[in-house]
Amino acid sequence: MKTVALIGYPLGHSISPAMHNAAFKHLKLDYEYVALEVNPDDLKEAVAGLRALHIAGFNVTIPHKETVVPYLDEITKLARDIGAVNTVQNQEGQLIGYNTDGPGFIESLLEDAGFDPTGKKCLILGAGGAGRALAVSLMQNNAKSISIYDILFEKAESLAGSVGGKAVKDLQKEIDSANLLINASPIGMNPKTDASPLPENIKLHKKLCVYDLVYNPYETKLLKEAKAAGAKAVSGLGMLIRQGALAFTVFTGKPAPYYIMREAALEALAAKS
Ligand code: NAP
Repeated sequence: MKTVALIGYPLGHSISPAMHNAAFKHLKLDYEYVALEVNPDDLKEAVAGLRALHIAGFNVTIPHKETVVPYLDEITKLARDIGAVNTVQNQEGQLIGYNTDGPGFIESLLEDAGFDPTGKKCLILGAGGAGRALAVSLMQNNAKSISIYDILFEKAESLAGSVGGKAVKDLQKEIDSANLLINASPIGMNPKTDASPLPENIKLHKKLCVYDLVYNPYETKLLKEAKAAGAKAVSGLGMLIRQGALAFTVFTGKPAPYYIMREAALEALAAKS
């Protein structure tokens, strides 16, 4: 049996084991996917341990996506451009880092939202790791412009500077002329507080496509606001499944059974809520 792992901290929320194990079972592959909580202080030893155990590969999530890079043997150009790795393949003892978040997002945008970023004005809320992956991917997919808004303007400025985008302060003005609005902040993740990343007085418009990276709850407050304004509202669950499907192919060399993974993800989410 080959083992694939997920490392992150904490991991209680993850639906990746359900998605990958359903896909292994469906294709009758002798693999298992396990979630391993790794404290940030133990990351170096954990990667050395996975290497010693001849693990087939592993996914990497918050907070290790950037800090894992020095412990790998090689990373792809895209992962280097994004500055983060979420998938690692063990190629005969060599640990190769990939980033499937960016491509998973673009695939979801095209397939789930029916939105082609070519020539479009894109506005990203949140200048963290996910915001960076999206900004780089949108640029590489011929977006007309990338604007970045963060509660810390300096963070937006720093990301905008490194990807050729612009940092914005006047959110309403930017939204009015945008084609795509993405929430890459964690705001909206807690159904109890039901928060939106947008300040209260901000108005959306019906020509906008609103993509929320937050996928639990499936319909966030931001997506409800988008629907109410007549805009297209798209859940980040699509990105989660598609980055997982791309990682599955990295681990196994086989096309992912996308619909099986989607069904397992939906079931796991329903069980958690
Ligand atoms: P992160 O590194 O914490 O970055 C989030 C950024 O957003 C931070 O700079 C944060 O500022 C900022 N922010 C907070 N509230 C904001 C607001 N109202 N408006 C604008 N910016 C705001 O997190 P991340 O790793 O990039 O992940 C962001 C979210 O994406 C998480 O919820 C994560 O679960 C989700 N995600 C989803 C997928 C998927 O497949 N669907 C993949 C990756 C990530 P402070 O640090 O000052 O709070």
